[in-house]
Amino acid sequence: MRLDVVTLAPEALQPLLALGVIGRAFQSGIAELHTHNPRDFATDRYRKVDDEPYGGGAGMVLKPEPVFAAVEAIPLLPRRRVLLMSPQGRPLTQPDLRRWADGYEQLVLLCGHYEGFDERIRSLADEEVSIGDFVLTGGELPAAVVINGVVRLLPGTVGTAASLEDESHSGLLLEHPHYTRPAEFRGMTVPEVLRSGDHGAIARWRLEQQQQRTRERRPDLFARWQASQQTPEEQQRKP
Ligand code: SAM
Repeated sequence: MRLDVVTLAPEALQPLLALGVIGRAFQSGIAELHTHNPRDFATDRYRKVDDEPYGGGAGMVLKPEPVFAAVEAIPLLPRRRVLLMSPQGRPLTQPDLRRWADGYEQLVLLCGHYEGFDERIRSLADEEVSIGDFVLTGGELPAAVVINGVVRLLPGTVGTAASLEDESHSGLLLEHPHYTRPAEFRGMTVPEVLRSGDHGAIARWRLEQQQQRTRERRPDLFARWQASQQTPEEQQRKP
């Protein structure tokens, strides 16, 4: 997959290339990272990329011309998606990462700065993505979050596909607890069932743990999971 990041701070993305399994995915060619700095596309002598907001107010706004020029200079692959990083976007979820990993060969990520983008830049994007209800200074960390989450889903990045299937947010239930050796550590013991070798009992215990964890930590997800377990007739009977 080709990843193109339009950013005023390309150096902020470099740590991705050295980051464990994600770094190896870039080294082995599973993914390619390209950065494009709007400043290189500014045409005035000061290479200005921001300006004061029309109507007044605090902060500076990213100008449209250098961002449009940067995006238009990116080689265009047939299946590409343009994502604009914004705290006003739709909150990022695991199904989004899966959809982009499976459905596209190129993602273009637009990173804002300052007060944000000139509104016309939004017309370049297919989707606006937020990584949560908080505000950061720039779009590079949000873009790195998206890239990490997408690249780990690409075939070959993570050793066994099975480890991606059962994990939290691949379905509606959170993942069950994990234990490794030693069987006892500072008075805390590994549940007996996990050492029993009884695969049926282990599977039942894990599912119970998933339900209990999700009910306690994420009642919103648990309610959706319960609804998904009901037959169409049961769902009809709801008040
Ligand atoms: N004034 C903007 C607002 O209130 O919506 C916030 C601008 S923020 C200081 C600068 C840039 O950081 C944004 O344009 C966006 O690219 C990025 N950013 C900040 N928080 C983000 C978040 N939670 N999710 C995605 N991008 C974010």
